[in-house]
Amino acid sequence: MPWALNVPLLPDESLSSWLVRTALRQGCDPLALTGAIWPKWRIWTRDIDREIPDVRMSPLVNASGIPSSEFQKSALRYDCERIAGYSLPETRTWPWLLALGTRNRTHHGGQQFCPLCFMEDSAPYLRRQWRFAWHTGCSVHGVQLVDDCPACTAPIEPHRLIAEDVHIAQCGRCKYDLRKTICTALSLEELAFQKMADSILKQDIATVGENSVAVAEWFSIAVFFLGVVRRASRRPESAFADALGSLGIPITASMMPLSGLAFELLPASERRELLVAVKHLLSIDLEETVETFINADVKATALHDQRKPPPIALLPMIALLSDSPSVTHCHRTPPSHHPKTERAVRASWARLKRRMKAEPPS
Ligand SMILES: [Zn+2]
Ligand SMILES: [Zn+2]
Repeated sequence: MPWALNVPLLPDESLSSWLVRTALRQGCDPLALTGAIWPKWRIWTRDIDREIPDVRMSPLVNASGIPSSEFQKSALRYDCERIAGYSLPETRTWPWLLALGTRNRTHHGGQQFCPLCFMEDSAPYLRRQWRFAWHTGCSVHGVQLVDDCPACTAPIEPHRLIAEDVHIAQCGRCKYDLRKTICTALSLEELAFQKMADSILKQDIATVGENSVAVAEWFSIAVFFLGVVRRASRRPESAFADALGSLGIPITASMMPLSGLAFELLPASERRELLVAVKHLLSIDLEETVETFINADVKATALHDQRKPPPIALLPMIALLSDSPSVTHCHRTPPSHHPKTERAVRASWARLKRRMKAEPPS
């Protein structure tokens, strides 16, 4: 049976946002609404922004009166597959899509928002683009995106709202009005990678140096450079880090995310700093980069994990570097009971905090 109240999808609205808004508009809990549409499918234990599979579509189309093509357009699968360049399996983390870290109905992170967009919306809603890992700011308002509740630090979990909550711009845990979040201005430099990636995703082709590359290839080059920056920041005192420094990319230990987590699991603050460096690296002529690495005797093994083949467009550059490992093989020492380094302790602490955000101690 169709619902009494129609709730249209708003421009660039994510599927989870629309489902939650629809529930609140009908005066019911999101969980009750989705339970009524799909009695045997627990949608909040998955990342529903990715897609609504075809086999689950008809009860939703019947109840909402919205054609399935609209829901497909709002789903993230199409864009994510253009970025990845291959068909994405349901169960894995998708490249460049923030991971929700779903465990039962609890999320560990992965949802961002702009307080000023919420403020200006007549009906606040979540944008699809806030789920992309290269989005760390709002280009309309020039402020940083926020990825947790400023009052209680919980991740943003709109599906935990209840009928009485009325609108989506509030914390699912402590009910803080997210529109009141104090904003931090964003520099043009911090927005540069985001703008570039957005415009490349709109086209079919990108350029790296003199070469035209496909969208997926461009994103894989960006992933490669992200790896380069992360590897160099593990050793900020090395010749490798100095070489990047001489290219105008100062490498500091603080750029290395403490947790060592995959990029798609990092908080916005850590992604932002890495992307500034990657954008800079992308804007330098490849030949200049290689020459600097050769002069500093940076080996190919220092640049990337040898088990993962580099993007094809970068192969000529990497071939010019010496492949021999920069240090002679050191013998693997068995696990010892030495005290952990400060970095290792802080890394486990950062990972623990991400888990605790999702499940605060009772
Ligand atoms: Zn905004
Ligand atoms: Zn809160």
